[in-house]
Amino acid sequence: MRTLLLLVGIATIPAFALDLTVLLDVEQKHSQRALAEMRKELSKVFKPTNLNIAVRLRQDTRPDETYNDVVMVKLKGTCRMQNYAPLMDERGPFAWTHTVDGKILPFSEVACDHVARSIQEAMGENGGDRDRLLGRALARVMAHEIVHMVGKCADHSHAGVFRHALSGRQLIADRLELQPEDIARLP
Ligand SMILES: [Zn+2]
Repeated sequence: MRTLLLLVGIATIPAFALDLTVLLDVEQKHSQRALAEMRKELSKVFKPTNLNIAVRLRQDTRPDETYNDVVMVKLKGTCRMQNYAPLMDERGPFAWTHTVDGKILPFSEVACDHVARSIQEAMGENGGDRDRLLGRALARVMAHEIVHMVGKCADHSHAGVFRHALSGRQLIADRLELQPEDIARLP
């Protein structure tokens, strides 16, 4: 009897990567500039993770398309900067992820107008490119929800994008990142 020895050359094994499609349902008019910036910021936030995020507008997809991993995000309200009158009370969530019987579903909703109002306050008079900053803020709000949805976790971290609450100022700051503990929550 002969034993066959099979020698396989081991090439560099590519790092494990998970393709995650974010299906975006845009309810009303939106700024293209905000959406472009949102895509950029989302890939920046998830760069240190194994997630490869592709944002697709739901209206651009075919009904028979299939995805390996997908989460749905509905952008509610107007996703472009307008001039908002200051409100007395700015509280309330920027976004929420749905659960059924305590189980986290891959479905979130983002309140665009609420995000826009909060960052307008933080920008002050000289906001510069306001729609670009809105895109950055929306990406961070979405990143937060994506950690909930993909990490299947209801609790939060103490710092960074997965804090329990984010301020308008944090949403438009130069940097707001995932913490190592957030990355550990992800596949
Ligand atoms: Zn949260």
